[in-house]
Order: sequence, then C-alpha cells, then structure tokens
Amino acid sequence: MNDDRLELLDLDDTDRVLCIVAHPDDMEYGASAAVAEWTDRGIPVTYLLLTSGEAGIDSMSPAETGPARAEEQRRACAQVGVDDLRILDFPDGVLEYSLDLRRAVASVIREVCPTTVVTLGWDMEMPWGLNQADHRVAGVVALDAARDAGNRWVFPDITAEDGRVLDRWQAEQLLVFGSASATHAVAVSADAVERSIASLEQHKVYLAALDDHPAPRDLIGGVTSEAGAQAGVDRAVAFHRYEL
Ligand SMILES: [Zn+2]
Repeated sequence: MNDDRLELLDLDDTDRVLCIVAHPDDMEYGASAAVAEWTDRGIPVTYLLLTSGEAGIDSMSPAETGPARAEEQRRACAQVGVDDLRILDFPDGVLEYSLDLRRAVASVIREVCPTTVVTLGWDMEMPWGLNQADHRVAGVVALDAARDAGNRWVFPDITAEDGRVLDRWQAEQLLVFGSASATHAVAVSADAVERSIASLEQHKVYLAALDDHPAPRDLIGGVTSEAGAQAGVDRAVAFHRYEL
C-alpha cells in the first residue's frame, strides 16, 4: 500500500454532520458528493451558511441576489438529501472574524449536536488558486466555534428559542475540504456523484453570471475521480481530517 494513499473514513463512525461554509454554492464543488453518501446512509446533514452570498453577482443588486441564491441553495440541498439549511445574515464579501460570528456558529453546533463538522480550507492558497477572504474566515471560525461549543465556560449563556440554556457539545472530528494536504477520503457511489453534479447545476443564476465556468459534470467528475485514485477506489471526496 502506498503511504501517500488517503485513508478511507468509516461512515458508520458519524451520527450527524454539520457543514459550515461562507456562501451558497461552497458545498457544491465536490463536497456535496460526500453529503449525498452520508444522507443515503440515513446520516442527517445540516448546512450552515454564514452569508446569503448577496455580493456574488456583479450584474445583480444584493437585494435581488441574496434571496435568489438562497433559493438556489435550497434546491441544491434537495438534490443531496439535506432538508436542514440555515443561513445567517453576516455580510457577504466582507465577512469578519469576530466573537459574534464564533458565538453564532457555536450556537448552531450546540443545537444540532454534530459528531462531524465539515468546512472549507482556510489557507491563503488553495489547490485551485488564491483563497477568497470569506472562505478563509469561515474555515477558521468553524474550527474555533467547534471548540467553543465544547467548552461549558465559553458562551455559557447560549439559549435555544424556548429560552433553555443549551448544553456544551463536543464534535469528534473536523473534515476540511479543499485542503492541499488531504489525509482521508469518503468513498462515494456513482449515484452520489450524479446528485452532486445536480446540486451544483441548481446554482443557475450564479453560474450564468460567471465567465468560463467549467461544466459541473466535468468539474465534479474530475475532482471525485482524482480523490478516488488517491484513495484506491473509483470515486471519493478528499478531506484533511482533524480530531477535535
Ligand atoms: Zn464561496
């Protein structure tokens, strides 16, 4: 066995998944194939978006874009079996690392109680180019909030809607998608890849506004085949796994 080979994750180790990203569409560049695989196995997945992506389309006003992209995200979620979509109203494009943001994310972690937290890489440079400012913030906040949520003395007064104080919650692992130093992979079926392609295709208004965007089938097919080759299976999604 090649030492560089990605280790396959045992999906039965996960009870519940929370994916924390900055924008509508961030989960749709390959990670949603793993989501389809989890939901196929009956493992519930929640998406938490920190913004509604309202600054993402040059030719449309934020007031139009935010709701349009939120709706496209709902359709994308439906393709991969996600019915719990939460969108916070932090500002797109100028997302700032802050205790308010950490608190908001920790609050959702204590509500949802995930064993696995998924986010995008926060490095300055990603395998496909320079990373976007909101992505860098969202990744670090996901990591920090996952730890905050597990510490009873940090944000001790976070309450549920009914006023009850939420107990601390410690997730077990953080899976970072888009890392240049992936360690693990989720093997995915051909059907999960098809559903992931369909999830990216739901971002119609957004993709139509981009020049030279590769076809979703080529993009997702390429990403999942490459990760599969690294993991010794036909198709996979690669992650850097950290224990929390
Ligand atoms: Zn994004």
